[in-house]
Amino acid sequence: MLDFIINNAKIVTESQVFDGSIGIQDGKITHISKTIGESANRVIDAKGKLLLPGLIDGHTHMEMPFMGTVSSDDFYQGTVAAACGGVTTIVDFAVQPRGGTILDTYDMWRKKADPKVCVDYALHMIIRDFNEINLKQIRNLIEEGVTSFKLFMAYKKELYLDDGAIYSIMDEVVKYGGLVGLHCENADLIECFAARLLSEGKVEAEYHAKSRPSLVEVEAVQRGIRLAEMSGSPMYVVHMSTGLARDEIKEGADRGLPVYSETCPHYLTFTAEAYRRPNGNRYIMSPPLRSDEDRAKLWLGLANGFIKTVGSDHVCFNSQQKNQPDFSKVPNGVIGTEVILPILYSAGVGKGILPLTRLVQVTSYNPSKLFGLYPKKGAIAVGSDADLVVLDPNKSVRLSVDNLHSNIDYSIYEDVTVTGYPVLTISRGEVVSEDGQFTGKKGKGQFVKGKQFPAKRPDL
Ligand SMILES: [Zn+2]
Repeated sequence: MLDFIINNAKIVTESQVFDGSIGIQDGKITHISKTIGESANRVIDAKGKLLLPGLIDGHTHMEMPFMGTVSSDDFYQGTVAAACGGVTTIVDFAVQPRGGTILDTYDMWRKKADPKVCVDYALHMIIRDFNEINLKQIRNLIEEGVTSFKLFMAYKKELYLDDGAIYSIMDEVVKYGGLVGLHCENADLIECFAARLLSEGKVEAEYHAKSRPSLVEVEAVQRGIRLAEMSGSPMYVVHMSTGLARDEIKEGADRGLPVYSETCPHYLTFTAEAYRRPNGNRYIMSPPLRSDEDRAKLWLGLANGFIKTVGSDHVCFNSQQKNQPDFSKVPNGVIGTEVILPILYSAGVGKGILPLTRLVQVTSYNPSKLFGLYPKKGAIAVGSDADLVVLDPNKSVRLSVDNLHSNIDYSIYEDVTVTGYPVLTISRGEVVSEDGQFTGKKGKGQFVKGKQFPAKRPDL
């Protein structure tokens, strides 16, 4: 007697699409075959539906202290939203407080997340203080299962590290099998451009984008690639927004460097036009939204495999937090974890841009390989965690505030209707969301240790 059987599904992995059934016992996948000749406590007929590995959202910031406030989704509400969007693992960013150590920060984040998470999670570590103690602790942290580090070239007053610090951390991380993620924007230029615009009284949301134009990001990506090249460290550009940056990453990868990149659902959906809408502040995130041409190049980058992952950069703020006198004071960030799959399916697979296997690569297989979670996560294979999502390709849903689960009072996707929607999310064998309703439990998610970044690079 099995716990769960899903029959007649169109099963999608990173390399194949086939009709079949899946059996689940004790939270693991135990059977993958045409038919399963056993009974189960629950049997679902998934005829006409797709069955994918649960998504791994490699980029979330739940209850993150930032720009004088805290992001409004905590680990509970944020993972409710994740579950309802087909995400079964988030990789959240622990933020080392100034003066603190990264090992203490790890403990702090575990204490915040463990009692609240409804799906499994792993952690990246944001290092803000470059000093001997934190440098030494990198090795210990990797042993604890936090194998990726995020460093900021931007946010001069809050999170910024200079190139020497970034190089030195890369140099240490690579020794112990870690991965360095970089927020690539030139902090000095942003300060200079923003000060000029504000002094001219240009305070509206559209000047947020003008204060950090595309080349400010491209320059930082180029620099990041050179720092990775000098240190020998693998490097992952988070939330890439521009077509030109994509070209730089491709050029670095073509030269044999282990450089990877991620983009986000908002860059694939909107352009800078959104900043001129009545609530333009709500679309403020960094890097900012770009042009139509950039958006097209990002889709193409995903389609042809130059961009390896889609993470959400989920960090949301309610309308009151977003309502500020000028763009430089608006907390940066938008929702995302719940919309990755609907956006990529509807605007990617549905429009013939992304093959189904590529969808699985960029949303689960590649992040699981990069962050050391494979094959526990990101695989439909016997022995892997039963983290699965059933998608109804014909279900249309408006991504309005009423249909989404984040703790904010609006949706930037209010006018976006998608076709193709997750209807069942399974986390280690348990149903955590069904037909748009959260059915999981607070605190049921577990911390997942990342394995070291392999010396022989993952084949993505
Ligand atoms: Zn982020």
